[in-house]
Amino acid sequence: MGVIADAVADGVLPGRVWFYGNYHCNLVCAYCLTESGPRSPQRRLTAEQLVRMAEQAAALGFTELGVTGGEPFLVRDLPATLGRLASILPTVVLTNATLFGDRLLAELAPLAALPLSVQISLDAPDPDVNDELRGPENFAKVIDAVPKLVGLGFRVRIATTVPGERLDAEDHERLCTLHRSLGVPDDDHLVRPVVRRGRAEDTGGAIAFTPDDVAPELTITADGAFWSPFGPTVRDGRLATDLLVSRQTDPLERPAHLLLRLVEGRPRGDDARIGIR
Ligand code: SF4
Repeated sequence: MGVIADAVADGVLPGRVWFYGNYHCNLVCAYCLTESGPRSPQRRLTAEQLVRMAEQAAALGFTELGVTGGEPFLVRDLPATLGRLASILPTVVLTNATLFGDRLLAELAPLAALPLSVQISLDAPDPDVNDELRGPENFAKVIDAVPKLVGLGFRVRIATTVPGERLDAEDHERLCTLHRSLGVPDDDHLVRPVVRRGRAEDTGGAIAFTPDDVAPELTITADGAFWSPFGPTVRDGRLATDLLVSRQTDPLERPAHLLLRLVEGRPRGDDARIGIR
């Protein structure tokens, strides 16, 4: 085995590599880390870049992939790309679940047999509270999409982002009742805080973090490689570079080794208290 494979096997490096496939989004959420919206610069990774880096990740000894954005499904060829990625390594894609019309669901259906899971944001058990943070009709679209994806055979995870460290206990229970009714078990419900980055720098209850608070998950964007998916955030149109590991991402071996060098001597990744999934 190589040094990266050894580090992953020993738990020194997390096994997952994240890709920011794009930065634009059809929503404009109040706490968005990447300040995404319909007019955001797309900062896309192409399908060929994604597949090439996935192959390199597997060869190096990484064990999983994650695709995030922006809203990844705004990229028209994403289903085909996800099929290629999930054929290389188990993959999770993060989405706001507002684009799952009949055509997209039909394109995704053949992928249900692959190790591909879908993580969907849902922040509150009440439409008005959820939609105030995420936009009109968001709640209704999520409630519509989740059982359809579960019905196709996908593992669906629900991610709830809340100001402060935790959700109100009653809201939490009602949200759990809701996700169970949609076919998502408790193990696939994640509650995480709003992180004070990007647009959330102005959000009450958002928490600050240090690199030791987040797992050192190699994160690749069109602008370089970062310490964590919480690294390549955007504020006032500028990409944050405080958690930049390397501008060079190809070959993936280079940022992977640089990340490992940074990680050695720090607390292990399982001490991290904030996770994106
Ligand atoms: S939080 Fe996600 S869904 Fe909301 S604007 Fe940002 S990228 Fe889009």
